[in-house]
Amino acid sequence: MSQQGARDVHDPLLGLDIERLEREMESYEEWLDERTEEAYKIAEKARAKGLDHSLEVEIPRASDLASRTEKLLVEHLEGAEVADDIRKLLTEFDRETTSIKMATLVAKRFRDNGHDLQKSIDVGLRVGLAILTEAVLVAPLEGISEVRLLPNLDGSQFLSIHFAGPIRAAGGTAQALAVLIGDMIRRELNVDAYKPTDDEVERVKEEFGLYRGNLQYRPPPEEVDTIVRACPVMVNGESTEDIECAGYGRVRNIDEARIRGGVLLVIGEGLCLKAPKIQRHTERLNVPGWDFISTFANKNKDEERAGEGAGFVSRKVPEISKFMKDIIAGRPVFGAPLEPGGFRLRYGRARPSGLAAGSCNAASMAAMDDFIAVGTQMKIERPGKACAITPCDIAEGPWAILRNGDFKQYNDLDSFRKDRPMISSIWDNGELVLGYGEFMENNKNLVPAAYSHDWWAADLIDALDSDQAVEEFCRIIGTERKDMPEGTPGLPINQSIDLDERFHIRRKWRDSLISLNPSWESAKEIAVRFSTSLVGAHNPWWLDLPIEWVPALLQAIESATVRDGNLHFIGGVKGWNADEMDELRPEKENTLDYASIPGPSIPVEKGIFSDSVPHSWVLRIHGLVKGSALMLGLAHHHDGDDLVITSGWQAMLDGLGFSIKGKAPMRIEDAEQVFKNRIEELRNAEIILAKERARKSELEQKRSSVKIAAETDARQRGLGIAETDKIGKEAASKLPDPGPKNPDEYLRAQILEDDHDVDGVLTQIRQISRLRWEHSAPVRVGCRMGRPEKSAPREKPTVHSLFPIALSGGNQRLIANSAEQQDLRVEMGARFCTVCGKKSPMITCHHRKLDDFGEEKPGEVCGGRTELRVSKEKQNARRRGELQTIRIDNLLEDARISLGIDRVPKKMKGVKKLMSKNQTPEAVEKGILRARHGLPVFRDGT
Ligand SMILES: [Zn+2]
Repeated sequence: MSQQGARDVHDPLLGLDIERLEREMESYEEWLDERTEEAYKIAEKARAKGLDHSLEVEIPRASDLASRTEKLLVEHLEGAEVADDIRKLLTEFDRETTSIKMATLVAKRFRDNGHDLQKSIDVGLRVGLAILTEAVLVAPLEGISEVRLLPNLDGSQFLSIHFAGPIRAAGGTAQALAVLIGDMIRRELNVDAYKPTDDEVERVKEEFGLYRGNLQYRPPPEEVDTIVRACPVMVNGESTEDIECAGYGRVRNIDEARIRGGVLLVIGEGLCLKAPKIQRHTERLNVPGWDFISTFANKNKDEERAGEGAGFVSRKVPEISKFMKDIIAGRPVFGAPLEPGGFRLRYGRARPSGLAAGSCNAASMAAMDDFIAVGTQMKIERPGKACAITPCDIAEGPWAILRNGDFKQYNDLDSFRKDRPMISSIWDNGELVLGYGEFMENNKNLVPAAYSHDWWAADLIDALDSDQAVEEFCRIIGTERKDMPEGTPGLPINQSIDLDERFHIRRKWRDSLISLNPSWESAKEIAVRFSTSLVGAHNPWWLDLPIEWVPALLQAIESATVRDGNLHFIGGVKGWNADEMDELRPEKENTLDYASIPGPSIPVEKGIFSDSVPHSWVLRIHGLVKGSALMLGLAHHHDGDDLVITSGWQAMLDGLGFSIKGKAPMRIEDAEQVFKNRIEELRNAEIILAKERARKSELEQKRSSVKIAAETDARQRGLGIAETDKIGKEAASKLPDPGPKNPDEYLRAQILEDDHDVDGVLTQIRQISRLRWEHSAPVRVGCRMGRPEKSAPREKPTVHSLFPIALSGGNQRLIANSAEQQDLRVEMGARFCTVCGKKSPMITCHHRKLDDFGEEKPGEVCGGRTELRVSKEKQNARRRGELQTIRIDNLLEDARISLGIDRVPKKMKGVKKLMSKNQTPEAVEKGILRARHGLPVFRDGT
């Protein structure tokens, strides 16, 4: 496998000392292993003392998936070994195929060894599921409660798999594959297919209708019908909800009338949603009887095609608004989906960041009114649901508007803090740095990133391919050669001998290049000489500038002047008032009154794809020139009524077809015509799109009235819900959709609108300017603050000790209160001491030793290990305890003495009742220690 193929020049691993790194990694893993071994030794010693329920450490240690599977299922496998087989299969097949093959293999082997059918299928299925879920979840143990062999109406036997709630954790693919695996096993072992009765089918439909829980997909009745009838094994399960089915509560083969959550999950999220994955396996393995799955597998594709029309594929980055759900008062939203002003996406990972985490500049944290601190959980638009935030000084900081009109960026905390009292509005949140691996982890497509310093440096590293190129670069940025890193980073690979050296040269150049902030002249010359795009301040946020504003802006620029290296707009902010920014924006903007907006009153174009001018509130508050500078992200300040743009203005002029002649911008390209043409094109496109929209909605209306008529008719004939639904849909589909009048024209309009949405005015900038232009802020990541307190200890109210005191402790369940009564009568498991033979509910016998006079000796207890004895009638009970009397005061006193402390904490809280099966309380000492240190019992009793 360690073949050395031809490696790409851009391979980031090229030249890395991989052998050494691997050695380091191995020794680190060894170190981890050793420390784990030590920890296990300590735990084993502690457990051997017999103070806990189990004498052994229960968490199995396993080195790989194969041995994890074997250890996880140790009780089900009854000593059968599977690890070697799994390992062998995994070298040849992927995990899903391995799981299918292994499941049938194990089931068959069990059957051949004389186990009954049910047991054989059960074990095979669990092994398959364990491999699918990497054997790290409880799903293979608790997700399937049992399998049964039940009779069809014709007397043949079929397989019923009983899914339980924890199957949710396994995910849709594993859920669906579990059904397929069940089917493969039953074929292997000659069990018949499931032939459901109508009632059994209707039952599942009713459950989907009644279920109130969260489902990613809720199949309509006809889909449920198809699946339940066609699926060769029965998807069955335990009742999980309180709601009972009224219509089909009592149905053969189904135990209870209450809703079975596991069934709905496996059908909805498994079989329906993961149909394409199942189809891949059924087709490859030639499994008969699964043709029904292809209808679901192709369903989404068909729908997508129908939605897109003839061959149109959108380039738009889809807006995801899921993170905006469950917003709560008092927790800020930092950006609406894709909305300018929100965090700008940058790929990367800062050192303090981790998995499911992102980073931003510390000034951005402060700018969010300190709602973001290190570790704050944010709900984000993409890639995942949430991320924790860490600081990163390379991320660009926020842009803010001050009360005096200044517009500037803050890249460090101190400068932001200093200006904070004067800041009126945060215009842009700065960058959010997210690892691209996060997108992979969340199964999301990557979205375009900005032409950041990283990209610029990467372009340059390759372009600096000779000593001469490096010399020239140094001259352009006005630096001495000796102040830049050594070596030639872009030296062709056949010219650099030592790949390791090459790697380090490139790394050093990269570090040095990303911190450069060249002047406009340098940036431009670099762009021309080395084919880079513009970076930093010289790359305005072109996408944010509405094309409708541009003709007016071009006019305004005509009258601007250049003075002391800045661009002045005389009277550019006349009438500007900072107080306007304090007003809450109205839901709907009124039509602009150009006479009252700040600065020049040059009207902009009407909205092309909307009724109003895009971002008209910016024009209303800041006027045309300041508004444009803000939208483009150009630093500026006010000088009386004048607007002075201090950076990035040269890039704006270049992009819009101006050069500088003396003290004024001079038109060198006919940008006006370019934009005029584009606006006209877009307006024409919108007319075509609007026509098609109208045609479609008319057709929909017609269809819906036909559908309603057909449905009413069907209902009057007394047909069921599913049939009525079907008849309605059929009637509607009889009205054909002839498509747009001129499909080519419509397609062109769609593409035009789409391109405009994705690239905005950048398309025209690229046309006008001779430089290379890339997006500086193509994607914003909407986000809001999460609710970190939601993940606070969930065990509420606080419990210190898992010791049952019924109602004797009062409202607060204080063990001290219950001790006042001396004798406590509660339900606990019956155990017997292996030393003195007496009955004790505790794990170590609590009976006190007696002195020579037959008196109990406080603090000296028998301490023998006890064993559980379950009476016959309790054998199958949900809880196996019985009412017992125990001297709780003595128990506490003895525990106090054994711990060597003065007194038992007063505020120590117990539980009313033990919920475990065996109802054995934990040692009282544990509770005392927790109460002393103010620690609650956590989920698993730690
Ligand atoms: Zn004893």
